[in-house]
Amino acid sequence: MFDLKLPNNSDVSANGDEPLKMLIIGSGPAGFAAALYAARAELAPVVLTGMELGGQAALTHVIENYPGFPEGVGGSELGELFQKQAERFGARTEFDTATEVDLTKSPFEIKTESGEYKAESVVIATGARPNHLNIPGEEELTGRGVSYCATCDGWFFKEKKVVVVGGGDSALEEALYLTRHASSVTIVHRRDELRAGPILQTRASENPKINFIWDSVVIEAVGDEKVVSVKIKNVKTDEESAIETDGLFIFIGHTPNTEIFKGQVALDDGGYIIADGLMQTNVVGVYAAGEVADPHFRQVITSAGMGAAAAIQAVRYLEEKGD
Ligand code: NAP
Repeated sequence: MFDLKLPNNSDVSANGDEPLKMLIIGSGPAGFAAALYAARAELAPVVLTGMELGGQAALTHVIENYPGFPEGVGGSELGELFQKQAERFGARTEFDTATEVDLTKSPFEIKTESGEYKAESVVIATGARPNHLNIPGEEELTGRGVSYCATCDGWFFKEKKVVVVGGGDSALEEALYLTRHASSVTIVHRRDELRAGPILQTRASENPKINFIWDSVVIEAVGDEKVVSVKIKNVKTDEESAIETDGLFIFIGHTPNTEIFKGQVALDDGGYIIADGLMQTNVVGVYAAGEVADPHFRQVITSAGMGAAAAIQAVRYLEEKGD
């Protein structure tokens, strides 16, 4: 098999020449799966990485539920494998971020931090980002004890106490990861029942380093130079108290990265792109895949599947269009 690669410095469309057949915005599992399928259909797709090569999955320490890896695989390692596989067939990765799109004309126009692209089809795979609590101290202490990524920051909390907020799969998975480093992990959840799946619930409840505070919300991150404690409030009794802690890890869901698409493609009330079963948005030739269009499943495998489907459909669209 040929190991095709286009030079990274080629700016086929950045200078207004021939439009690309396909531009993929985002480099998570959806983006690179779309790139793989489009590349194998000889569309020479370009992938704009955005801020995080590999997307959110790349920030996950170990992914245990992606088929084909019975022992699990590192999140960033899987991202690199996705990229390598897509590039092998001629996809090109650009370390650039889309800043503005005009999807009203064909070819579509996409401005980025360092140039401009024209493309006959677009796959939007920009993913989602973690929600914030929006409490006093949170913004000021981000990077100084407040974090949204255990894999990135857990190491700094060796033998320290940390608080985790949330009751979903992310909160439990990240709390379990934090037990590798921290001396104790206190999960503060606003209800007395977890949303997370049973396997993670069992693992967390059996881990001696993890304890739970139920029916409570964190209302302030306290500290000057770094987090020293958090204030919490019991939502049933309104009673407030403080917990000494070195870290506050927040895992309370996500917001889709769709700001630049507002007014360009149809979004739902939560800001997610509305795509049909064929990954088609309301703009012909523009597809959406992965978490940016999926508030429900948000798995590496479902995102990758959506990316593949989007590319297959885009290939059909271009064929029918006569390209
Ligand atoms: P999620 O399932 O939406 O859970 C968010 C959690 O944060 C919920 O427990 C929610 O409480 C809590 N929360 C939301 N807003 C809050 C606020 N303002 N203050 C305090 N708590 C708040 O989000 P997620 O855990 O990120 O998971 C997202 C999706 O990814 C899910 O479908 C999940 O299954 C999937 N996922 C899967 C895996 C895996 O399979 N290994 C790993 C990570 C994520 P309530 O429960 O009261 O609503």
